[in-house]
Amino acid sequence: MSKRKREIAPSTYEPCSSIPEGETTLTTTHLLVAVLVGMVMSLDRDEWFVALTFGVLIDLDHLFAAPRYIADNGWAAILRPSWDDGSGLPWRSLFHYPVGAFVVAPLAIGWRYFVPLVFWGLHVSLDQLQNSTLEYSTPVESAILVVVCSGIVYIGYRRWGELREETGFRLFLNDVSRKIRAVLSGYGRAIRLRLGST
Ligand SMILES: [Zn+2]
Repeated sequence: MSKRKREIAPSTYEPCSSIPEGETTLTTTHLLVAVLVGMVMSLDRDEWFVALTFGVLIDLDHLFAAPRYIADNGWAAILRPSWDDGSGLPWRSLFHYPVGAFVVAPLAIGWRYFVPLVFWGLHVSLDQLQNSTLEYSTPVESAILVVVCSGIVYIGYRRWGELREETGFRLFLNDVSRKIRAVLSGYGRAIRLRLGST
């Protein structure tokens, strides 16, 4: 982490002419893809926890790199398609590279189930896909989001319909928004309790 490296970092970033290798996939996309695959696999509560840890939360490693990255490149650089600023300084952990399989695969075999490996593989594959289409990251990500959201709504609606005699998309939406409001008010109550007010 030499001073000289830090000084040359901003000038080496050229967004259009030489696109640096990096990861662009938004954590929201990772979350939605993990939710869709989790729904398809009908995960139970514990499996959801593992799936979201390996499929989404591995992005938390960016938080450790964020202070250095922002100090070197400024806050606006958070929106860049890649955080690889050409400084050569690390900005993501081993888990973001295929070599991370050497850590995740033995864990998955040890636990006798493959949820960690499946969701970690999904995360890295999505990052690799975006990596190879950096010039088109917005349309690619938008297309993934549309397909994934449609899939979630489709599976959610079908499963919801299986449990009811009276169905209809409007009823489904009402039911979903009622559940979301209930969850949010539950969180609100829990936070107010924590803060000591009732
Ligand atoms: Zn990632």
